[in-house]
Amino acid sequence: MTSRLPALAALFLLAGCTAAPPPRPLAAMVPADDNLNATAWVQNAVEHDLIYLQTYRDAQQHLAAALDDAQWDALTAADRTWPARGLPPAVVLDVDETVLDNSPYQARLVRAHAAFDQASWNAWCLQARARAVPGVVAFTRDAAAHGVKVIFISNRDKALDEATLANLRQVGVPVAGPDVLLGLGTSVPGCTAHGSDKGCRRQWVSRHYRVLMQFGDQLGDFLDIAQNTPAGREAAIKPYLEWIGQRWFVLPNPSYGSWEPALFGNDWQLSPQERRERKIESLRVD
Ligand SMILES: [Mg+2]
Repeated sequence: MTSRLPALAALFLLAGCTAAPPPRPLAAMVPADDNLNATAWVQNAVEHDLIYLQTYRDAQQHLAAALDDAQWDALTAADRTWPARGLPPAVVLDVDETVLDNSPYQARLVRAHAAFDQASWNAWCLQARARAVPGVVAFTRDAAAHGVKVIFISNRDKALDEATLANLRQVGVPVAGPDVLLGLGTSVPGCTAHGSDKGCRRQWVSRHYRVLMQFGDQLGDFLDIAQNTPAGREAAIKPYLEWIGQRWFVLPNPSYGSWEPALFGNDWQLSPQERRERKIESLRVD
């Protein structure tokens, strides 16, 4: 029997060479580590750092004019539920990828071939070891030095408040007190929050502050989006394009965000493979 094995093996090899390969789904033909390039860019491309630096420097240069102009306010009409006139000034910043750099968490996922999950995310946040993104410490310190309250609206769960405040203090951004962090689950009287929308928390800010500027890496950091589709997102931002770089400062996030589920109908029930198929289909090739 053993003498016939090489011949059989050659036969199988030949068959393997000549048979047509079974059709493979498009997503299987693209390497699966979608976040490898994004995370490598965030951590290693100096261009990433320069975008943050120029954004916060631009904002710093606009701050004096915003302070002097009593009409200047960076909340939408929907969020401005109380007249801004006479209120003390504030700036509103998202936390993740706007103040704190969580790319080490993404890097851990890439290396472990793992996907985001709440438990590993919470564990990372509780370590309170994130670094500040470039430019944010200088900007927020300058704002505070000019009497501007620095407010953080984050979709980190409120249970992470203590660790998040410790991390913010550790990197050197001004934290006036625990009430400057409005995490997910913050109760705002008279306002019913929908999911992780930040509108109610912006409305709370509107009752206490004139908002000079908002900063974020997600559209939802600036306004609530009625329809999270590519077209719905473009329609939502269109009335505010003049505010970009003046009142609203947008930062890059290639790793995650609501832009991504918009590409597969926000349907997280789809398998990872199906989601990848939809994303590949969304690519424009001319
Ligand atoms: Mg963010």
